[in-house]
Amino acid sequence: MRIEENFELARFTTIGTGGPARALARPETVPELQETLRFARERDLAVATIGLGSNLLIADTGFGGLVLKLAGALAQAEIRGELLVAGGGAPNAVALHRARAAGLGGFEFACAIPGTAGGGVRMNAGAYGSDWAAILERALVVSADGAGWRTPAELGLSYRRSGLRQGQVVAEAEFRLTPRPSAEIKSIVAALQAQRKAAQPTNKRTYGSVFKNPEHELTAGRLLEACGLKGHRLGGAQISPRHANFIENADGARSEDAIALMTEARRRAWEQYGVELEHEVVFLGELELPPLAK
Ligand SMILES: Cc1cc2nc3c(=O)[nH]c(=O)nc-3n(C[C@H](O)[C@H](O)[C@H](O)COP(=O)(O)OP(=O)(O)OC[C@H]3O[C@@H](n4cnc5c(N)ncnc54)[C@H](O)[C@@H]3O)c2cc1C
Repeated sequence: MRIEENFELARFTTIGTGGPARALARPETVPELQETLRFARERDLAVATIGLGSNLLIADTGFGGLVLKLAGALAQAEIRGELLVAGGGAPNAVALHRARAAGLGGFEFACAIPGTAGGGVRMNAGAYGSDWAAILERALVVSADGAGWRTPAELGLSYRRSGLRQGQVVAEAEFRLTPRPSAEIKSIVAALQAQRKAAQPTNKRTYGSVFKNPEHELTAGRLLEACGLKGHRLGGAQISPRHANFIENADGARSEDAIALMTEARRRAWEQYGVELEHEVVFLGELELPPLAK
């Protein structure tokens, strides 16, 4: 297994920020993945898996551990009967393509989610009234201790959440789909994509939703819009003028700019609405939001 050292991670994230990883490996099979995880454990290295980096904010100082980028067989997808079987690193776009070609529906909502099958399990990704939990049959979770299949209940999937910890890698996911004509799938996807384009900054570098929707009549986006944050800029990062729960890399943004914007957004949401926003984006490396002054 080849280990690359001091690997720049910014190009592995959709926002395009973040420093280097101490080491990076690209396992292609389950045995290679296990070998890599044991290698890290023997050296006391923290492990983090990166999918397509579409909900990830990496510290500008980087990550002092081993980053795994699933490749080869672990990044492919195929159809077996009515099951969509995807490697943890398989892009959702590839998995959706396979499902459509086979005339299997149920995965269309994922056209809005630019991540991987494994990243989707970790985040319980979802859109348009569906999510991973609704269609996932089981996932193969690999750690330095071994490998095992888990159901959605065993994975602890709930709104944008799972019980998976760093060092537990989704190597494969099986989704139960239902027969649907390819032409119908195509038109559903086209309609969802048009809906997305009208509401979100799809042509800008972002990391998707910044905050989870709070238990409040307003969504996180509407709340931050009401706080007057649309278009608010700090350094190279900007709260999207189109949707306030997105941060855009406007011009050479750094992760610290995004953190400064998130800090300001949380402060205003708390002071103006008494709402404590919880971030959806995952942090990697030395990054944190300061506590609210309550
Ligand atoms: C324009 C845009 C729109 C988006 N819209 C949506 C949306 O509608 N709904 C939604 O839910 N999300 C949305 N997102 C966020 C993002 O696409 C999802 O959270 C996605 O599931 C993340 O997958 P990823 O592979 O990119 O994971 P990454 O961002 O690379 O990683 C996210 C987390 O998952 C972990 N992870 C990644 N792969 C694995 C694996 N194989 N095993 C274990 N852990 C893993 C990482 O360690 C990290 O903790 C959007 C993002 C963008 C940029």
